[in-house]
Amino acid sequence: MRRDTRCIHAGSHPDPSTGAIMTPIYQTSTYVQEAPGVHQGFEYARSQNPTRQALEEAYALLEQGRYGLAFSSGVAATDAVLRLLAPGDEVVCGNDMYGGTYRLFTKVHERFGIHFRFADMRSIDTLAAALTDKTRLIWVETPTNPLMSITDIAAVAKLGHSHGALVVVDNTFASPYLQNPLTLGADIVMHSATKYLGGHSDVIQGALMMNDAGLRDRLYFIQKSCGAVPGPMDCFLVLRGIKTLHVRMQRHCENGKAVAHWLRRHPRIAHVYWPGFEDHPNHNIAQTQMRDFGGMISFELQDPDTDAATRVLSSTHVFALAESLGGVESLINHPATMTHASIPREERIRNGLHDGLIRLSVGIEDIQDLIEDLAQAIG
Ligand SMILES: *Cc1c(COP(=O)(O)O)cnc(C)c1O
Repeated sequence: MRRDTRCIHAGSHPDPSTGAIMTPIYQTSTYVQEAPGVHQGFEYARSQNPTRQALEEAYALLEQGRYGLAFSSGVAATDAVLRLLAPGDEVVCGNDMYGGTYRLFTKVHERFGIHFRFADMRSIDTLAAALTDKTRLIWVETPTNPLMSITDIAAVAKLGHSHGALVVVDNTFASPYLQNPLTLGADIVMHSATKYLGGHSDVIQGALMMNDAGLRDRLYFIQKSCGAVPGPMDCFLVLRGIKTLHVRMQRHCENGKAVAHWLRRHPRIAHVYWPGFEDHPNHNIAQTQMRDFGGMISFELQDPDTDAATRVLSSTHVFALAESLGGVESLINHPATMTHASIPREERIRNGLHDGLIRLSVGIEDIQDLIEDLAQAIG
């Protein structure tokens, strides 16, 4: 099956009891057993649910991996990966990443004796310098949220494996349609399915995909033991979202490209962060490991203060002022006070995330409406 066909058919089998073409929402907590221990593979819904199973099969196929696991949110999926570690272990991660991941690492797992080292992952040399003999895991986000930096996944996988560390990629921004880290050597892919996979801003969910059976068993054990599983209704919504992932992503990329180039020509704009520009620092890596550049864009106004940014953020009509991304509707966000408020200001600024930065999730509306909206808001 080719990629576009896979989006529609992955994990879909007619329901064995009725022939229903869509996987039913198996809203049940338990399953009747014929005799003690004699059942059809379903015992209790925290461990197994047919709707979730269909989605997990789809997750694996979309990332060209062997296994998929669904979690109640993206951060729950990240938390499950961290539970593979033991006190004293070290994690190396990027210094520009999703604020909630940073908070989970530093405020929750650090207390349990896991140590986090932050490195500029745009360069393999700075990453290599952060590795120690205690490094067990490298956490990669590419493109990063919100500065759209690119990390060379294949190079990190090679480096990580030579140090005996697991390499995990948060692939939320690219979606499985634009980038498949497992094929580049990563051990685990993580997604906030809340974003492009769900695609309609109506569900919170997370996903992990992997190839190694032993790793899958350890993560499945954590999934059922810690219990951060999504309900069947949410699994159904993501299954439905995935059926249009390919057409949505094509339009996100098309609109994203048009908005990025328009912003760049605007006299009131100082800088536009988008990996599709030829002079983006790691454009050639993005071009090699991504199929296209997506609909996430950040920019800074010439006037760097928060007030100027606030005026733009409060003046759009089509772009809604909200956290999150990856839905069909366009969103505008102020990372410093919204998605990345959990990162201390000094640290944020040191890593290049200024108070005036504005992030867009470009949706799939008519491109003229999007540009007219930005034009009247930026002035
Ligand atoms: C939203 C997001 C997460 C967290 O996912 P939730 O579903 O909100 O828990 C992690 N990483 C990235 C890049 C995100 O955008």
